[in-house]
Amino acid sequence: MTRQDFLKLSAAAALGGAAVSRAQEASQQVNPDLGFKDTPMEPGGLSWHVHDPDRPHPKQITPAAAPGGAPSDAMVLFDGKDLSKWCHRGRGANRNAVVDAAWKVGDGWFEVTPGNGDLLTREKFGDVQLHVEWTSPVPVTGNSQGRGNSGVLLMTRYEIQVLDMWDNVTYADGGAGGIYGQWPPLVTPARRAGEWNAYDIVFEAPKFDGEKLSKPAYFTVFYNGVVVHNRKESFGPMVYRQAAHYTPHPPEDSLMLQYHNNPVRYRNIWIRRLGGYDQA
Ligand code: MG
Repeated sequence: MTRQDFLKLSAAAALGGAAVSRAQEASQQVNPDLGFKDTPMEPGGLSWHVHDPDRPHPKQITPAAAPGGAPSDAMVLFDGKDLSKWCHRGRGANRNAVVDAAWKVGDGWFEVTPGNGDLLTREKFGDVQLHVEWTSPVPVTGNSQGRGNSGVLLMTRYEIQVLDMWDNVTYADGGAGGIYGQWPPLVTPARRAGEWNAYDIVFEAPKFDGEKLSKPAYFTVFYNGVVVHNRKESFGPMVYRQAAHYTPHPPEDSLMLQYHNNPVRYRNIWIRRLGGYDQA
């Protein structure tokens, strides 16, 4: 329906008959540009009419100028210059200590570096959208899980595998883009070592009711623009040679990049906390 047709119909409805109900009368006072109050209620127990003028409008944000860039409401975790948003965990008895990030930073990228283990964000997150770019080391060395291994772990636990997949054989649930040890990616849109890959991840954090899991974690993942997980349920935190299972943890935790001996590089990392619908 064109806007003109819509306005004509609205006007016709306004003139239609003398016996206009009070509800209709009220509806005629609403500017049709802004919506309607004489429409049915939305299904699913929602408290809004269809086209309800009182429904909160989504916040307007500015998208990035180019694909892969951070929109205006994202938190940029690495802007190409420094690792001030990141840290390491202490070792041994100092495990709860926060240690300044010590991975090597180059021109627009940083590199998995020995000595301090995994890299964690100082900020903690639950439900998020995440963009991260990575590239496997050149020259290529190692095989299977020993070739360009790192990982993007949501809440320090739920891993999307990072691995050099070019001409590299490994177990299916250990490949790049996989929910490690659980679900292989639907396809493997890999690039050669030295070329940049992008992950766009939507992660729903698990929910716990005391000791009990009330909602599992879900991953939606685009790997170089190709969907490789479509709201796929995770069985629990990443484990090696074991069946994953959930144990309760806080509703927010750090994003983690895995130290796995290989000098994988990362760049252009940003994250957005995901809110719900109809938030004023
Ligand atoms: Mg890994």
